[in-house]
Amino acid sequence: MKPTRKHKRLAAIILLWAVLPFAAYCASTPYTGRTRLILTTEAQENEMGEKSFREFMAKAAPSRNRSYVDMVERVGKRLAVVANKPDYKWEFAVVESNEVNAFCLPGGKIVFYTGIMPMFENEAELAIVMGHEIAHAVLRHGGERMSQAMAANFLGSVLGALTEKDGKRELYMAAFGGITTVGLILPYSRKHEYEADETGTLFSAKAGYAPEAAVNFWQKMMKQGGARPPEFLSTHPSDTKRVEYLRKLMPKMKQVYSSSAEKHEYGEKLR
Ligand SMILES: [Zn+2]
Repeated sequence: MKPTRKHKRLAAIILLWAVLPFAAYCASTPYTGRTRLILTTEAQENEMGEKSFREFMAKAAPSRNRSYVDMVERVGKRLAVVANKPDYKWEFAVVESNEVNAFCLPGGKIVFYTGIMPMFENEAELAIVMGHEIAHAVLRHGGERMSQAMAANFLGSVLGALTEKDGKRELYMAAFGGITTVGLILPYSRKHEYEADETGTLFSAKAGYAPEAAVNFWQKMMKQGGARPPEFLSTHPSDTKRVEYLRKLMPKMKQVYSSSAEKHEYGEKLR
């Protein structure tokens, strides 16, 4: 049986009533100014990031390709200066894996897989992905995802308790599930990707890398395709939209680039 409009409305009212106490935990994102729910502290997130990074690295095979490692560290350090998070313990690693991927953990732990490295023609393209990952960390997207999960669990249990004696409990729960997944969790993931693209490109332009590299890189990735999309493709609307979005950002990013303290333009080519 499908939940009716009445059930959906009731679920929405209960949701609103239960959401109010969370208002105190709403805060704005740096750079983009979006209001979001954060129930975790940055210190808690960073501790979890540190622990996960140690666990990951204990099993990983660090790359011995000197030019990969040097370039990731060089670009990472330049972007970390711009990101200006003195409390972060930045670490940049390149690990052996065929996956075309890179990821970040809270507190400034960035990992590149060797599989993505041949995709970069130069430092500026690497800076785009590096900036994207650094932006996820600085914007505390990890903490936000955790907070969403915590809030959804809490609200789910509130709804469950309120409708326990009601024969239509499953209907309410189904409606609630629909609201949280479609209305809350999915669009936010896409928002995170856009935010990471925008803030990441800003970081790389501030660090002195030509912002046009963002458009060039994503156009190349679009042609590349592939069966398994990397992390930064997975929840994004589409590559075409991403390139369009980055194009719109170019005038602003070019201004940031022109006033950057150092200029590396496209940087060194990857050997
Ligand atoms: Zn991403």
